[in-house]
Amino acid sequence: MECSEDDCDRPAAVELHVPWTDNRLVCAAHARVLGRRDGVVADPLPERGEDLLE
Ligand SMILES: [Zn+2]
Repeated sequence: MECSEDDCDRPAAVELHVPWTDNRLVCAAHARVLGRRDGVVADPLPERGEDLLE
């Protein structure tokens, strides 16, 4: 499972719950950026959640 952002081939680490569109799976780096938008909830995927705890 890879990050759903264009031109990004890192493994997906986080599911973003986005109020205005479908949920998307993104890498940790994109989750940090996209997760700052109002209403977005970042939910770490269980098998890769530890990547966020650096
Ligand atoms: Zn990404």
